[in-house]
Amino acid sequence: MAASNAQTLLLLPGDGIGPEVIAETRRVAEAVAPDLQLEEALFGGASYDAHGEPLTAETLARARKSDAILMGAVGGPQWDGVPRAKRPEAALLSMRKELDVYANIRPAYCFPALASASALKQHLVEGLDLVIVRELTSGVYFGLPKEITALPNGERRAVDTQSYTSGEIRRVARVAFELARGRSGRAGKFPGVLSCEKSNVMETGVLWREEVTKLHKEAFSDVPLHHMLADAAAMHLVKTPKDMNVILADNLFGDILSDEAAMLTGSIGMLPSAALGDPGTPGLYEPVHGSAPDIAGKGLANPIAAILSFEMVLRWSLNRIEAADRIVKAVDKALNSGARTGDLGGSMSTRQMADAILKAL
Ligand code: NAD
Repeated sequence: MAASNAQTLLLLPGDGIGPEVIAETRRVAEAVAPDLQLEEALFGGASYDAHGEPLTAETLARARKSDAILMGAVGGPQWDGVPRAKRPEAALLSMRKELDVYANIRPAYCFPALASASALKQHLVEGLDLVIVRELTSGVYFGLPKEITALPNGERRAVDTQSYTSGEIRRVARVAFELARGRSGRAGKFPGVLSCEKSNVMETGVLWREEVTKLHKEAFSDVPLHHMLADAAAMHLVKTPKDMNVILADNLFGDILSDEAAMLTGSIGMLPSAALGDPGTPGLYEPVHGSAPDIAGKGLANPIAAILSFEMVLRWSLNRIEAADRIVKAVDKALNSGARTGDLGGSMSTRQMADAILKAL
């Protein structure tokens, strides 16, 4: 938490379109939360170019002291030749690890004006409002051993290790249950938490199901809980997505399910995300998209994903629900009035889209 009483948000614009969308988000922040202390630092490739490190110790220290961190995006072809540990993407992974943000929250919300832009039929996504909670700091992406070895017969063998402790499962499940508790009273077949794993073929899936069930009994029996195999959930997500409210999954299945859910809502330029750790620790927020080198510097990027990531900052880290609601309404209003960047089939610039949202505020 920040030392003074003022709430602090550290902006890390990053590379490519990152600085463009964060600049517009700053204008929205100044409009809805003028007392919020906004700080800024270099991050990713921009930091590497200036300091030889994609994430400096000083920036990390400032992040720890902030109430929340909002990142733009990092990366770009100009850093392809840089050693892996100094690549812009390494900054992102270090930041997540250092802040121990184990719960990745990705809403998939379909703004009514964009229902026809989805890859699915309009009636399937109209009114869609679900959230994926993905475990972010353990599982098969981190488990050891993780290696490729040479076999005596000349073949090679690759191993990744899927590993979860009960504590790792419980802490992310708690986030999902609390989230579902705040989104109660929903229709659909799975109105509370839908927990996904592969307990039919994986031991981690068995433990996952047992621990989620235990925690549910202990502390969240008021929240409906359903279990589903992750492959079945993937099918359900494109068949009847409106059945779902809060989907809980491990790192691997959550990665896949959240990308699938993202595509239900239209453009990648619309999608925000949050990564949260224990209560009282700073949350890490970022648009789902990358640095989009193909459109960087042209003023073409859709700033809505970044602006909605800021909306999540207000809601999740700063407890400013009213200001968060104002942003969602303003984005909705701007879209209803026909505001569209290129990715949504329009011709507005990044600045013009932000202007439309500011006007609607
Ligand atoms: P990307 O998300 O940057 O771009 C994919 C496509 O979507 C591109 O055609 C791009 O123009 C478009 N797009 C993305 N955001 C948009 C927006 N706001 N408005 C309009 N169109 C948008 O993914 P990529 O091309 O695979 O990766 C580019 C770089 O970004 C790589 O260096 C990659 O490592 C990095 N990356 C970073 C993050 C992150 O910082 N969290 C995430 C993904 C990729």
